[in-house]
Amino acid sequence: MDTIEITLPDGAKREVSSGTTPAEIARQISRGLAKEALVARVDGQLWDLSRPLDQNTSLAILTPKDPEAIQVLRHSAAHLLAAAVIELFPGVKLGIGPPIDNGFFYEFLRAEPFTSQDLERIENKMRELASQDIPNERKLLPKPEALKLYRESQQEFKCELVGEKATEPMVSFYTTGKFVDFCRGPHIPSTGRIKAFKLTNVAGAYWKGQEGNPQMQRIYAVCFYSQAELDEYLHKLEEAKRRDHRKLGPELDLFSIQDEAGPGLIFWHPKGGLIRKLVEDWLRDELLRRGYDLVFTPHVMRLDLWKTSGHTGYYRDNMFSPIEIEKADYQLKPMNCPGHILIYKAHLRSYRELPLRFAELGTVYRYERSGVLHGLLRVRGFTQDDAHIFCRPDQIESEVEACVDFAFAVMKTFGFDRYEVELSVWDAAHPENYAGKPEDWNRATAALADTLERMKIQYKRIEGEAAFYGPKIDVKLIDAIGRPWQLTTVQFDFNLPARFGLEYVGEDGARHQPLMVHRALLGSIERFFGILIEHYAGAFPAWLAPVQASVLPLSEKFSEYAKSVEAKLRDVGIRVHVDDRNEKLQAKIRDAQLQKIPYMLIVGGKEAESSSVSVRHRTKGDLGPQPLDQFIASLRAEIENKTIH
Ligand SMILES: [Zn+2]
Ligand SMILES: [Zn+2]
Repeated sequence: MDTIEITLPDGAKREVSSGTTPAEIARQISRGLAKEALVARVDGQLWDLSRPLDQNTSLAILTPKDPEAIQVLRHSAAHLLAAAVIELFPGVKLGIGPPIDNGFFYEFLRAEPFTSQDLERIENKMRELASQDIPNERKLLPKPEALKLYRESQQEFKCELVGEKATEPMVSFYTTGKFVDFCRGPHIPSTGRIKAFKLTNVAGAYWKGQEGNPQMQRIYAVCFYSQAELDEYLHKLEEAKRRDHRKLGPELDLFSIQDEAGPGLIFWHPKGGLIRKLVEDWLRDELLRRGYDLVFTPHVMRLDLWKTSGHTGYYRDNMFSPIEIEKADYQLKPMNCPGHILIYKAHLRSYRELPLRFAELGTVYRYERSGVLHGLLRVRGFTQDDAHIFCRPDQIESEVEACVDFAFAVMKTFGFDRYEVELSVWDAAHPENYAGKPEDWNRATAALADTLERMKIQYKRIEGEAAFYGPKIDVKLIDAIGRPWQLTTVQFDFNLPARFGLEYVGEDGARHQPLMVHRALLGSIERFFGILIEHYAGAFPAWLAPVQASVLPLSEKFSEYAKSVEAKLRDVGIRVHVDDRNEKLQAKIRDAQLQKIPYMLIVGGKEAESSSVSVRHRTKGDLGPQPLDQFIASLRAEIENKTIH
């Protein structure tokens, strides 16, 4: 018999007879590996463990530790779903069934909709078939026979797929017991490894996604290796739902979007407005402390300005239509940059003035399609915490470092301690696709990378991902439940200074072009607010809470003392509210909890006599009686220090 040479990932070579399967090699290596194995990788391609090898190859045996293996498990679980549906509903027609993020779906054509009881029955049938540990077997059929098989079983969608997708004379199939599926594979060896899944929902989808085609029912599922992973994922989904800012916004009376006014436009209610003020105040103070100048620019400017900037070219699709006044076209601003450039150009600048850092809480308007609008996260009008830095080449390192330092101050202040950083650079092989000179790109990219390295910040470098006008750093923060959110961008621009002919007089007396950096830390105030709401699930730290303490008198008898407590707190700037409704204490506590007010101060006879309050915290519960002055001092310190808990 012929022998072939197998090269394993560690470089070790093995001589085996032709026709040996990866499963057999796994068994030769170790029993543990054979038990864990799900699929193989042969010369870079995923391959069934039971599929014979017939030539010299490199081979890796994949287990749950290999990231590629999970999608194979999910794909096999999709087949298991179809197998269960075919058993329970023999007349259904099969569509496609791919793995997706966190799970899989399979689509079916059936006159009646699948109900939640149906899903339960299907799930039980899947568990039954999984426990039988049925092998997934690969078979080959000549194409005409494959078509005949599907025609006879009246699976016309599958006929269509075989007709279109099968390019070889022999077509590969996978069987799971009685279930047969036209499929390229590969699959895990048998159904027994599918242990942790849950059918989540049914959604309609046109066959092949084309309107007018038959409407399929997609059964969606989530699937992991273990029940613990599945539970964690489902818990995270629940948490995301609980934290959804679109739900908490109205519940806490923070903001609204009014159909009467139009989609994607935000109304900040008093409580949301107060939080916005606190965020903006902190930001403005920091801007001034860090050497920025605050500027304001108009919301509409001549369309010609946007021609000069180039936005009417590459950015047109994201802009509102122009407005005509006195035979001139005006444009609602989609960006703040040209406005800041005009301020720069108002004087001839000297090298001594640089760097100039113009900052604005600048409201911009962008045309987002109604289909992509999403609460506070994707809107049509929003306020950026925007700034543009104009500097000399010798200043870029320190400017970039200051931007990154500022971004980290934002994260720390608002209670985020996990983040990811990305550096997007150009594709150096194609300088013709980019604005600016290669030496500008190299210097700016090096400044960005060196700064991150000097500050010991881990980052991912992404080649060819930069915009045509310059390299950038993106900072994504990770919220309380592990979701990443794009926040800060520090972006070089080699395009606008040239388009607007920006200059400064150098030390040599000659005219030079300054470097320009766009940077936004929070991104948009609206979006940042959405992220804050979800990160804190609406329970803002005391310094950001719209109401910091609620005074709850035990009965009307104590309302006078309650009012005096309120006055004392208000005097020192604490945001306080007295709940003097004629309600039971329990009801008042429940409502304060629902409003996520950090402190509840319960007052009755004992407290009035001793000038104290009984303190209850929204998460720590009953903290017992405290002298009023002592409570005020500790809450003031908590606010002052912007304590996060
Ligand atoms: Zn398949
Ligand atoms: Zn800009």
